[in-house]
Amino acid sequence: MPKSKFVDFKQVKSAVTMEQVLQHYGLLDDMKRSGDGLSGCCPLHGGSNPTQFRVSLSKNVWNCFSECKHGGNVLDFVAEKEKISVHAAALKLYAWFDLSPTDTPSEEAEEPPRTTPPARPTQSSAAPVRQPTTAKSQPEDSTPNAPLKFRLEHLDTKHPYLAERGLLPETMVDFGLGFCAKGMMAGRIAIPIHNADGKVVAYAGRWPGEPPEANTPKYKLPPGFKKSLELFNLDRAIKAPGPLIIVEGFFGVMHLWQCGVKRVVALMGSTLSPAQAELIRQHTDRHSQIIVLLDEDDAGRTGREDIAVRLSRFAFVKVHGFEKEGMQPEHLSADEALDLAGGVP
Ligand SMILES: [Zn+2]
Repeated sequence: MPKSKFVDFKQVKSAVTMEQVLQHYGLLDDMKRSGDGLSGCCPLHGGSNPTQFRVSLSKNVWNCFSECKHGGNVLDFVAEKEKISVHAAALKLYAWFDLSPTDTPSEEAEEPPRTTPPARPTQSSAAPVRQPTTAKSQPEDSTPNAPLKFRLEHLDTKHPYLAERGLLPETMVDFGLGFCAKGMMAGRIAIPIHNADGKVVAYAGRWPGEPPEANTPKYKLPPGFKKSLELFNLDRAIKAPGPLIIVEGFFGVMHLWQCGVKRVVALMGSTLSPAQAELIRQHTDRHSQIIVLLDEDDAGRTGREDIAVRLSRFAFVKVHGFEKEGMQPEHLSADEALDLAGGVP
């Protein structure tokens, strides 16, 4: 249990979803799901009208339109349900969802995490502010993802899905992933995502297998996390030799990694965002080689053409196509993977 002074409300709010809190109370099954929302009787004032209480899953907030006449976030919900302070509610959420504070608490822990850019210096702008070249045409929010102040613990690497995907025990250790029994990614394979500095900024949750319902996504990311600002495995890929290989997904990276190809990153999709292009530019030079290795399907083909054009402005880019429709990096044997990467040991 963290000491009270290290409780970080913002982190708790981003780590725990309303859905999980309702499930914790056994209330989720009574809620009706539609699109982004849940609705039901208000569990706070104990109402009986099934439309009075609403949850927005994307915003991770609730609202009671009846007697309570207000709403709030997960902390407010637990505080009201338990009739305790928001601070005490945060401590409960830490315990219920197995959140652990970071190892070295500092005064920083009490401050809000850096979800807003540091204030501009007030003195005259003697020092020019360097803007990334892509910043102007970039509609996305480029505020960096803040490093997490907790870790998901007790991730199970023995889950059969992991062996089914061909992951070796040492690969799971290298990537720190495993099946998550409770907490923000309960019921999913939790995969930590690191930023370029090697700090964990999010966990992705992969449903182990085909999701049971059409509206259960295969992958879940925490609310507010901007995957377009990260490249999976970039922090370690940049330390390895050879051409930089770009794949779509986590498992493609991990497969190539255990084949011995370590300079590999994933887009976490089939498109390259301006921020991701900028990350690649920062970690390559005009002599660098990049291999674009997206899945052999419509999305992959569209993505790779665009990526090749954009990255070839600053590096040598090679596009790899697979022979058969539906093939992806996981289908490469170790020899094929090493060949493709130019015989990198
Ligand atoms: Zn109410």
